[in-house]
Amino acid sequence: MVQNLLLHYLKTKINMDEIKIIKENNKVFILEDEQDIAELISLNLQKNGFRTKEFLRAARLLNYLTEEVPDLLILDLMLPDMDGLEVCKFIRNNDKYSHIPIIMLTAKSEEFDKIIGLELGADDYVTKPFSPRELVARVKAVIRRDQKTDNTKKFKYEDILEIDFGKFNVLVKGESINLTTTEFKILELLVTRKGWVFSRSKILDAIDINDKGIMDRTVDVHIKNLREKLMEAGKLIKNIRGIGYKFDA
Ligand code: CA
Repeated sequence: MVQNLLLHYLKTKINMDEIKIIKENNKVFILEDEQDIAELISLNLQKNGFRTKEFLRAARLLNYLTEEVPDLLILDLMLPDMDGLEVCKFIRNNDKYSHIPIIMLTAKSEEFDKIIGLELGADDYVTKPFSPRELVARVKAVIRRDQKTDNTKKFKYEDILEIDFGKFNVLVKGESINLTTTEFKILELLVTRKGWVFSRSKILDAIDINDKGIMDRTVDVHIKNLREKLMEAGKLIKNIRGIGYKFDA
């Protein structure tokens, strides 16, 4: 009862802006047979801009993978129809799915399974009972780690701007320019979701700065430096008054 009220409260807190962002963002599948827990995870991820899909049975997830592959899977180990470790093994041994990052949900008593799970190729684990906030943080960290290793990602806009994300290389009209890590991360965020407006707080979130004293103004300073360094390409980064920034080509 209390949990239902909590879920209702969380549902009503998701506003239209967040729904728009969810559409653009990473998709997380949740395989967890306890519906309340699955929903709680789902809602917390949605609040943080993720798209989610819940599965209560392993068989349903495995069937659905033929239609859509997620950016990350949250995998409960104790399932009624299949051992979570078997699910992990199946995914890791299948060429089409082996790249999917996996976070296992384990109970304290499953200490041993946790180790096997990591050996089977799970990326991380969270022990029940867990705080939703911690789980969301782990999801973000694993996805970030995963996307950092995408060395093949490239971006090109006419002959003006070329980015090789793997080589950390930016060319403006064929000329290499030097960006700081933070500037590079901001640029990557903006061009990866071209046309999408990011608030200053979303940008701060994405560049993963842990400095507690940081202010929105910091983003403006980084953007200013970034625009200057990008020369002609700098004007492609637009300020949307009262909201934030976007890359618009
Ligand atoms: Ca379970």
